[in-house]
Amino acid sequence: MEKVLTVCPYCGSGCQLYLCVENNKVVGAEPANGPINEGELCLKGHYGWDFLNDTKILSKRLTKPMLRYSRSEPLREVEWEEALDYVADRLRSIQEKYGPDAIMGTGSARGTGNETNYVMQKFMRAVIGTNNVDHCARVCHGPSVAGLTTIFGSGAMSNSIPEIEDADCLLIFGYNAAEAHPLVAKRILRAKQKGAKIIVVDPRRTEAARIADLWLQLNNGSNMALVNSFANVILDRGWQNDNFINNFTEGFAVYRKIIERYTPAYAQTITGIAPQLVEEAMKIYTHSANSFILWGMGVTQFGQAVDVVKGLGSLCLLTGQIGKPSSGVGPVRGQNNVQGACDMGALPNVFPGYQPVTDAANRKKFAKAWGVEDLPDKIGFTITEVPHAVESGKLKAFYIIGEDPAQSDPDSGRLKKSLANLDFVVFQDIFMNKTALHADVILPATAWGEHGGVFSGADRRFQRFRKAVDAKGDVKDDWVIIGELAKRLGYEMHYQNTEEIWNELISLCPGYAGATYEKMERQGSVQWPCRTPEDPGTPYLFKNNIFQTTSKKGIFFATEWRPPAEVPDAEYPTVLCTVREVGHYSSRTMTGNCWALTKLADEPGYVQISVEDANLLGIEDEELMRVSSRRGSVMSRAKVTERVKPGTVYMTYQWWIGACNELTIDNLDPISKTPEYKYCAVKLEAI
Ligand code: SF4
Repeated sequence: MEKVLTVCPYCGSGCQLYLCVENNKVVGAEPANGPINEGELCLKGHYGWDFLNDTKILSKRLTKPMLRYSRSEPLREVEWEEALDYVADRLRSIQEKYGPDAIMGTGSARGTGNETNYVMQKFMRAVIGTNNVDHCARVCHGPSVAGLTTIFGSGAMSNSIPEIEDADCLLIFGYNAAEAHPLVAKRILRAKQKGAKIIVVDPRRTEAARIADLWLQLNNGSNMALVNSFANVILDRGWQNDNFINNFTEGFAVYRKIIERYTPAYAQTITGIAPQLVEEAMKIYTHSANSFILWGMGVTQFGQAVDVVKGLGSLCLLTGQIGKPSSGVGPVRGQNNVQGACDMGALPNVFPGYQPVTDAANRKKFAKAWGVEDLPDKIGFTITEVPHAVESGKLKAFYIIGEDPAQSDPDSGRLKKSLANLDFVVFQDIFMNKTALHADVILPATAWGEHGGVFSGADRRFQRFRKAVDAKGDVKDDWVIIGELAKRLGYEMHYQNTEEIWNELISLCPGYAGATYEKMERQGSVQWPCRTPEDPGTPYLFKNNIFQTTSKKGIFFATEWRPPAEVPDAEYPTVLCTVREVGHYSSRTMTGNCWALTKLADEPGYVQISVEDANLLGIEDEELMRVSSRRGSVMSRAKVTERVKPGTVYMTYQWWIGACNELTIDNLDPISKTPEYKYCAVKLEAI
């Protein structure tokens, strides 16, 4: 038996594991001693590989290109030549007729790797001629990138995941690590065992809330008011760090003026949190030697998410709780390579390495390296703007790699209509999914386990993942497919292997310049920035309190709280909030095809409903119920629980049946364009 060292393809923790292989078949997975997991794995890491060789599951894999010349026809299997020629012809004709900005592409935050994301954004920019490239960071930590880049100059986790356990205080805000990142949850537990104080801000009683020293069960949709009241109490009690504020920040006077209005008593009218709890929480946060703020989708999936991210970062500036080990900000990325897809520039506003497309010097550098005369300077569409761009006639073609927006994006009924109205849809993935039903061409790709490359973990950690088995079926690596399309469109983009792609990438990004394959092999991982061959990488950012903004200072930010877009009313009196479940990942294309994981959770997710609401409606635990919003209506089973407050229900987004994104609203944060998945108005009915 051979053991192949690789990286888990599920959450953003970045656990290392061995795939155990016999006769080109995966027969098991074992934990490796990676820097994040240190010899442990969660259930997804242990059992998430069946889709690589189970014959019943393989029969569901995409194993041959498929095509239809008319939407009224069914898709039929074709040879690669026919499929690629057709895609190139259609993209060329749309490009000529409507211009390059009529075409949109996606990178992928899943098992495709950084090299594919690099090649895809290069294809969109250098071959098609547009910045219309994005991926699903838009629907998760887009606000973290936008907010932290504005105030610190860098949008990633400031510190490493292993540092969590050495913090003296963890402020866990809207983040359910036990479901989202089980091995991060383990670090939180270890921090608690080592004596850290745990403050949890969450409307739901999560696992972290159960071990917390303080649990602030705020009203859903009131984050900004609570963060402002945190700052207010710090300033009122004189717990701020004046030396840090005076020497390493700017914008404090304006910040203070806004914060003054948010006394804990005033904020309580919005948040529901008693002033003494706010004071207790901030006493712990400010008086601990090292305080680390962790957050998840409970911060980012609101219409005011970027503001809240900036507010949380400003707490670090106010107190000097940043720029040292175990102290800073931790927007913990959800999918295994969502950090990487961002790092590689699969975003509409930046080239790889977060170099803005609006900067002429950047465009000149990349144009020269890619052998084209010029590159587009206009910021492209985000993935959440696709329905709007289709409806206004601006977008005609969509090339989707490793994403399932019809399942995972908000107001999915509207999105599906948009997909149907596009002139041309190309879908490249490993399984059929809801989005694929709208495709004109399907291009089957190799899966994680069948190809190699580099993933970026949530804490800026480049790690090598490796091929363990040969792909079964007539499939190709994603970057090979894109290269073959580029050639048909008159652009030579031929690489021998992923290392060649990687070396081109790091030659163009000063922050990654020293992060070679060789160094990743030698060290096990490399955290960016890593600028030179001698540089081992950077476990924590902003050492010596030097930020990456133009002025090198941290920039304070505060603003007024504003309510969510769609508040409950007489017709739709309940709030719906989306969440996830530990046994499954994203839209379940991979985990839903792994035997053990489907045994763990084999039925469409539940509606978590409070005991009080269930009694009022006459709904029993496990009974079917209906949830309706202004956009759609779905049935699901009730999970009557004391974990949630009356007035709000929670649903997972991962299942085809009871798909809660039929209900969600596409109200977008005005800056990051991230949807407000955590808040819309619904009505509940017993069936
Ligand atoms: Fe994989 Fe995340 Fe589980 Fe680690 S914690 S094994 S990375 S799913």
